[in-house]
Amino acid sequence: MTFAFDNTYARLPDRFYARLAPIPVARPDMIRLNEALASQLGLDPRALHSPEGLNMLAGNRIPEGAEPLAMAYAGHQFGHFVPQLGDGRAILLGEIVDSAGERFDIQLKGSGRTPFSRGNDGRAWLGPVLREYIVSEAMQALGIPTTRALAAVATGEPVYRERALPGAVLTRVARGHVRVGTFEYFAARQDSEALKCLADYVIVRHYPEARETERPYRALLDAIVARQADLVADWMGVGFIHGVMNTDNMSIAGETIDYGPCAFMDTYHPGTVYSSIDDRGRYAYGNQPHAAQWNLGQLAQALLPILDEDVNQAVAEAQAAVDAFRHHFEQAYLARFRAKLGLMESREEDADLIDTLLRAMAGGAADFTNIFRALCDAATGNDAALRVQPGGRDILETWIPRWRARLAREEASTDARAQRMRCANPAVIPRNHRVEEALDAAVEDDLGPLEALLDALAKPWDERPERGIYTRPPEPHEIVHQTFCG
Ligand code: AMP
Ligand code: MG
Ligand code: MG
Repeated sequence: MTFAFDNTYARLPDRFYARLAPIPVARPDMIRLNEALASQLGLDPRALHSPEGLNMLAGNRIPEGAEPLAMAYAGHQFGHFVPQLGDGRAILLGEIVDSAGERFDIQLKGSGRTPFSRGNDGRAWLGPVLREYIVSEAMQALGIPTTRALAAVATGEPVYRERALPGAVLTRVARGHVRVGTFEYFAARQDSEALKCLADYVIVRHYPEARETERPYRALLDAIVARQADLVADWMGVGFIHGVMNTDNMSIAGETIDYGPCAFMDTYHPGTVYSSIDDRGRYAYGNQPHAAQWNLGQLAQALLPILDEDVNQAVAEAQAAVDAFRHHFEQAYLARFRAKLGLMESREEDADLIDTLLRAMAGGAADFTNIFRALCDAATGNDAALRVQPGGRDILETWIPRWRARLAREEASTDARAQRMRCANPAVIPRNHRVEEALDAAVEDDLGPLEALLDALAKPWDERPERGIYTRPPEPHEIVHQTFCG
């Protein structure tokens, strides 16, 4: 069993991380191996299933070529700066380059205490590990940039939260683990040399185009801003609520990272919050663009010492880069929602058309996913699905005529349009009650619901009658009101 490690982060200066190995666990047991991802990464799934492979995924055995380390970072948590966070329960084993030449971090999460644990246990329990597995793989299937889950392994050890729970380790695969908070870490220490080194590193790894420009660090910031705007627009388009958009959870590579108290919205409302720790709604569905821009402001602030030698000029560069978020986000958002509505051309009135629909949805307590899915049928003149949706009749009477008039101004066959819409409006999302059901069963050693759910989520556009349990919103008694960190 070999990983073809080719580590670059471990070549950075010592103060970027703490070198240490994962802490071994008692009795590793494979809960789920992502065989397709393993193969894509050039890893042999059978070898990963072997005792040797299992021990590597549990942190009991360091694979050859790994240079395990915990990354240092800081972060703004709910607006408050914490100068030192860092990987408190994660170990980066190293990087591998896949068959397409793409570089990925291999990280164990839940692998024991590190110098950054701040009094916490360094562990994870099975529930959040599987939640991350399920939701990150669902995001991948939806075509949204995300970290991936290679494996979930039970440790055979209890983890104590409010009670004893089964421990687990997730193997996370990411294009990178540098966060906004990594830059903040060095900025807070007034370590401009490290800032430059980190910026150069992420340029080489994620934004090579920036190197060819006159102002590479400004170009880097612009590119990060653009990628985040695209990412948040992706989230908005599927009703995803990250839940804890702290700057330490915003990836410089532009992937969705850190699936804690995240959720997909059932009933549409812009103020929707599931996270148990977000009591003020800072990271509510509709606030996500604002939160992202605020985080990028923190990034820009951290980059000031390297943006320009002249302080005023640096501030002007930073401000301009962050201000551009709004326009970029609006364009990306309109593009997502135009696609959801089957619109190919862009018109002045589109923003209002989208907004009016969303307001009607909020007023009628409509299911976000199912309304858009019903619109795919409505695009061919079949209103039956829409009529039975909560809020559907109102939308049918007040909004559909306007939408149809707008569609009539574009040339497209209705069938082709409906087909396109079905590829922009998922039928299956990881609904909270289905996720909870799968986690509850897994804790009781029944992996059936987990496997079935993962199977359904792998084909989110596919709506067959037998998949009905995954497209149905929760009954009142099934509604999950809160999601937790773990
Ligand atoms: P998060 O809210 O998941 O982004 O985590 C915030 C910080 O807390 C990061 O530095 C994590 O590494 C750390 N952390 C979260 N849970 C644990 C844990 N169980 N043990 C040690 N550190 C943790
Ligand atoms: Mg985090
Ligand atoms: Mg977390």
